[in-house]
Amino acid sequence: METWIEINLSHLKNNYEYIRNRIKSDLCAVVKADGYGMGLYEISTELEKLGTDYFAVAFLNEGINLRREGIKKEILVFNYVDSSQLHKALEADLILTIYSIDQLKSYIDIVGADISKLRFHVKINSGMNRLGIDEKDFVFFMDKIKEYDIRIEGLYSHFAEVEDFDFSKKQYEKFLFLADKFEKLFEVEVKKHISNSPASLLCPDYNLDMVRVGMLLYGLQPLEEKDENIKEIFTWKSRISSKRVVAENERISYGNYTLNKKKIIATVPVGYSHGYMRQLSNRASVIVGGRRFKIIGDICMDQMIIDITGSEDIFIGDEVTLLGGGVSAESLGTLAGTIADDVICKISPKIERVLRY
Ligand SMILES: *Cc1c(COP(=O)(O)O)cnc(C)c1O
Repeated sequence: METWIEINLSHLKNNYEYIRNRIKSDLCAVVKADGYGMGLYEISTELEKLGTDYFAVAFLNEGINLRREGIKKEILVFNYVDSSQLHKALEADLILTIYSIDQLKSYIDIVGADISKLRFHVKINSGMNRLGIDEKDFVFFMDKIKEYDIRIEGLYSHFAEVEDFDFSKKQYEKFLFLADKFEKLFEVEVKKHISNSPASLLCPDYNLDMVRVGMLLYGLQPLEEKDENIKEIFTWKSRISSKRVVAENERISYGNYTLNKKKIIATVPVGYSHGYMRQLSNRASVIVGGRRFKIIGDICMDQMIIDITGSEDIFIGDEVTLLGGGVSAESLGTLAGTIADDVICKISPKIERVLRY
């Protein structure tokens, strides 16, 4: 294996149990984007064993893949699903999101009376203006739900910026106001949820019936203040593939990066095709034998070069740590001008996942 990702399942269990013990509501494990780059199948199988109540994915195919892998728990699809694909959602027993009236109309146009067989949660726009039914359309929306006898099992919304407490409170109150209207009109109680990882830590009062957690399960900490009970669950590794001494004025990698003094360099068989961001060229470091070495020159499609000058005791085949184990996704995000989530979501699903217990 030229590169692999070790997933520490006991740390995943630790994070799951820690969150579970803090909340009284149901736990929805968010496994979109290939389980935040960790591996959809490996992560979901373990979380189902641990007893998660719900899974959430972004797209239909992710939900179908989970069913194929034998996942039995409820699966909520957050995002756009084309009306031509509704039969697949029905077949796989997935819960879809209604987030606009136009979308609902297009679904009704396609499946007609069969719309009542599908299962839905409704997303309410409480202030983020991304997806969700607006307050001004809510009465009309409820009329449609009544007219077509549509099965609504849950209502939800999403925080724009949890740490903006005033705005989050407004979002929460608007959401509850509309949810209350809905439940009164239909004389039902549905599953209400609004909190993500940071909200589950900062605003436990907003947990409602379910909390949708991604980052914390994966050991990623979105808040400034770190919770030491949350453990890192993965390490991305590779091996040294080549080593050489390069003289002053020689070039390194593509482009015209030229050395101003003699160096010892080593090559690592990982590049941007694996999802290691090219923006990290000449910026990030990797760890070999407990020491940090900087990447020099441009990161290539499936290789990178590191500067190991002064460390003659590094050899071909030595293990290299690219992410995790002392290199945080957050630090790479900062170096690449982005955020931790972006760094890990880019990790290619083609990389083998190795499970550790
Ligand atoms: C991604 C996502 C979440 C999970 O967010 P984390 O901060 O990773 O916990 C929750 N809800 C929705 C709608 C999402 O898109």
